[in-house]
Amino acid sequence: MRPLNETEIRASFVNCSKGEARRLNLPRGLAELPWEELDFLGWRDQGAPDRAYLVAEHRGELVGVTLRVPSFRRSMTKTNVCSLCVTAHAGSGVALLTARRAGAAGREGNTVGTYICADLACSLYVRGRKKSASVTRPDESLPLEDQIARTVLNLDAFLAQVRTDTLAAS
Ligand SMILES: [Zn+2]
Repeated sequence: MRPLNETEIRASFVNCSKGEARRLNLPRGLAELPWEELDFLGWRDQGAPDRAYLVAEHRGELVGVTLRVPSFRRSMTKTNVCSLCVTAHAGSGVALLTARRAGAAGREGNTVGTYICADLACSLYVRGRKKSASVTRPDESLPLEDQIARTVLNLDAFLAQVRTDTLAAS
């Protein structure tokens, strides 16, 4: 993705108040991030462990989503698969993140949940840039560009769910 600055990121959020978007903690070292290797910008809030954020291009617009992280920890023996990038993690490496829907649905308390790499580093797992003993990528015969395309497609579907109301209205 193209490099983003703080103003663009804060202006992109679709499912929280402007005040919340203004105050939330951005990732450190924005300028030094490996933007060309990111399909989306995702990060955990350094000051609020129950919060995560995701910013991506969606249907020609920059869309930011605030996510809630469950406070309970999963069993360390269980393996879970990220629904965006298909990376399998042991233990708490995948979390069920929930987003309030944008627009009227969100104001009524509607949320969308999906299992995502808990560090939101999907782009780096897909490219083999981030690895650990508890992470396995399925033995994929798919070329890298197809794996990236699949991640983007999965993300697109998730963002469409979050934006259902506002997309239909525009
Ligand atoms: Zn992932």
